[in-house]
Amino acid sequence: MIEVKEDWCKGCNICIERCPVNALEESDHLNRRGVRPPQLKQQNECNYCRLCELLCPDLALTVIPEKEEKKPMKKTNLIPVGGKRR
Ligand code: SF4
Ligand code: SF4
Repeated sequence: MIEVKEDWCKGCNICIERCPVNALEESDHLNRRGVRPPQLKQQNECNYCRLCELLCPDLALTVIPEKEEKKPMKKTNLIPVGGKRR
């Protein structure tokens, strides 16, 4: 997910031009500064590389990666210090 603080965007389009997978586009509405803030074309096009967040000069973008599924812990034969083997 990309969170866009729309009114912070000045419409420089750095994020759109630098996205390595071309996942961003201008939205169809104007913000309070009179420019079109970016939006994702499709959610699954973004690979969460965070380049747009790093490059935005106005800190208007925040990349929020989808939570990874919890992986089950591997069984081990080691016994924790002071603990019991399960
Ligand atoms: S880099 Fe930041 S200021 Fe420039 S268009 Fe993208 S969100 Fe707006
Ligand atoms: S996080 Fe990377 S892939 Fe996703 S929109 Fe930003 S620059 Fe593009």
